[in-house]
Amino acid sequence: MSTQELDKKHIWHPCSHMHDYEEHPALPVTHAKGVWLHLEDGRKILDAISSWWVNIFGHCNDRIVHAIQKQTAELEQVIFANYTHAPAAKLAAHLSALFDDRLPKVFYADNGSAAVEVALKMSYHYRVNTGTPLRKKFVYVSGAYHGETTGALSVGALGLFKKVYEPMLMDTVEAPGPDCYRCPLGLNRDLCHAECFTGIERVLNEQADQISAVIIEPMLQAADGMKIYSAVFLKKLRALTADLGIHLICDEIAAGFGRTGTMMATHHAGILPDFVCVSKGLTGGFLPLSAVLTSETIYKAFYAPFSEQRSFMHSHSYTGNAIACAAACAVFDIFGESNVLAEIRKSGAHIRECADTIAEHPRVGEIRSIGMVTAIELVADKETRTSLPVNDRIGYQIYRYAESEGVLLRNIGDVIYFMPPYTITKDEIKFMTDVAIKSIRAICG
Ligand SMILES: *Cc1c(COP(=O)(O)O)cnc(C)c1O
Repeated sequence: MSTQELDKKHIWHPCSHMHDYEEHPALPVTHAKGVWLHLEDGRKILDAISSWWVNIFGHCNDRIVHAIQKQTAELEQVIFANYTHAPAAKLAAHLSALFDDRLPKVFYADNGSAAVEVALKMSYHYRVNTGTPLRKKFVYVSGAYHGETTGALSVGALGLFKKVYEPMLMDTVEAPGPDCYRCPLGLNRDLCHAECFTGIERVLNEQADQISAVIIEPMLQAADGMKIYSAVFLKKLRALTADLGIHLICDEIAAGFGRTGTMMATHHAGILPDFVCVSKGLTGGFLPLSAVLTSETIYKAFYAPFSEQRSFMHSHSYTGNAIACAAACAVFDIFGESNVLAEIRKSGAHIRECADTIAEHPRVGEIRSIGMVTAIELVADKETRTSLPVNDRIGYQIYRYAESEGVLLRNIGDVIYFMPPYTITKDEIKFMTDVAIKSIRAICG
């Protein structure tokens, strides 16, 4: 049987309406290099979304391939309780240096959702260990996405992923978050002072003594349609949570590692969270790995003799996988040896310029960008910013059209976005944006 036939017979794909596969079966990829995916039928497709935001230095990047090959031949995996190895130790030092060693403790897990679970559990366990177990609530903001395991889903806001499972989730609190394109105060994210902060401010002030932590995606709410907001919101949130003794968890899983033009998105605001979750770009998109960074203060609350039973007993079988850690160390080497952030800002600005050529189209509501992310939000009405009818699946049709023209542009509803590997060239940017614009015109007129 062909790959496609075997797939159709046995595979249940992620985040997919399997019914759609009848008309569009999964495309078998035989190899990939740089921004290009090569298909079994000889076609090639430009990966404009970094294969779900994970790939930052191109597919089969030589540096990372070499690091993985070398590590695999030496040590692939070892139990990470009571044993350690150079790649994990070296990587932890790199990670804590991201916050000037002020988050010096690193706990590894193997995907983004698992890192979020770890941060939530650590935050609450800290409360138990420090005698305030009634602080057990978690607050998230509207538009939030933190993964899809039940704990992570409980602090997510997106009905598409959450609604069905509500009855089985943790009791959490949703606070109003920034919504800049449709700002209820009519302000502009580049000029405002995050006046919308008063919404979450009220929630935190009212329930402070019951709240363990607030979790937020810094600068970029990616899964909710690449929504971008002001760093002032983060500054205010850090100041208030610190005043009220509430932990701040920054979920850098999508936004970290240069994606927004700074190494960590939190750096735009110059704040220090209590917990930072990283994954996705961490291994350059080669292997699943995640980490939670936290402070000496949090760590100390767990540090006690066996008899006190304060330790964090969480574990995953593949914690600190040596091959994944070696890939991540190679990612840090690449960042260390060339000015990646300057390249990101340059290429990001170029993508934005190309996208802006469709700004006047009657269906284009907003074009927004930060670092290596540019999004085009399509609307029914530019004036009222009314969304397109969901069942028309306009974004999906654009995705299909662009794919047939050689670009993978996986839509989020009616938001079309570019989030390519940082290594994309000028010519590739031109091809990617030309196809996107052609596809929008083909579907929207
Ligand atoms: C992707 C993502 C996650 C979940 O990571 P997985 O590895 O898919 O479990 C969590 N938070 C944010 C902000 C993400 O973009």
